[in-house]
This record gives sequence, C-alpha cells and structure tokens, in this order.
Amino acid sequence: MLVIFDFDDTITSSIASWDHEGCLDDVTPNGANEKTIQQLREHFEAGDEVRIVTSRSRDHLQNTLDGLDEFGVSWMLSGVHHTDGEWKGLWMSEHGLVPDKFFDDDPLECADVLRCFPDCETVQVKLHPSWDKDV
Ligand SMILES: [Mg+2]
Repeated sequence: MLVIFDFDDTITSSIASWDHEGCLDDVTPNGANEKTIQQLREHFEAGDEVRIVTSRSRDHLQNTLDGLDEFGVSWMLSGVHHTDGEWKGLWMSEHGLVPDKFFDDDPLECADVLRCFPDCETVQVKLHPSWDKDV
C-alpha cells in the first residue's frame, strides 16, 4: 500500500502567534510533529511504501531533505517529491502515484486527493493548538 505524507505542518509542526486584533502575527518552526512521524514509522514497519509529497518549490529540496534527516525518517522513504505549488492530487495522478492513504494538514489538499482518488483514505492532520485562535 502507498502512503503519502505532506511535509509542512504534517511531518513538521509550527506555532502561530496572533496580534491583539486577532491577525496572524508570526509563525515559528516547532520541529517535528511526533504524532505523524510515529504514524509514518508504523506504516513503514508494516511494509507500506511511504513517500513525501509537498507543494514546496524544488528550490527548497535540500531544506526538506535536511529536515527529514533530522527527524530520522529519510531512510524509510521511497521518494520525496516537490509539486512546486501544484495540487498534490493532480500532481500524483500526472506522475503515476496512486495513494491508498494520504496525510495533510490542509483540508483542501485532502479534498483534491479524494477527487482524484476516490478510494484513498485521507487523514487531516491537526495543526498545533496555537493555530486555534479561539483558545
Ligand atoms: Mg502542510
């Protein structure tokens, strides 16, 4: 089975800070998203093919690879793909990747993957609690 993980805010975590008017003020990197990384590890150990598909620009390839190294997961991956801003569902269908399971923090990316691959299970990864303005 092919399992796809997004990178930013799925494999990684970030902390949002808000100004007094409730506008997003800053986003600070917060290292690994341990919960998702544990899920990645479990899929790998179950014998699944695991890949990263990020909409990051290819210019950030080295940064993505460095992060995956730092989190200790690079060796488990069959591929790391940068769509350069293209929707992931569309990009995967153009590149012959047919996911069985897809993890992403962005509900719109999950919806696009479902549109392209109706049988795929999508998992919307929760953002760090700081993103919830109402807390
Ligand atoms: Mg993301």
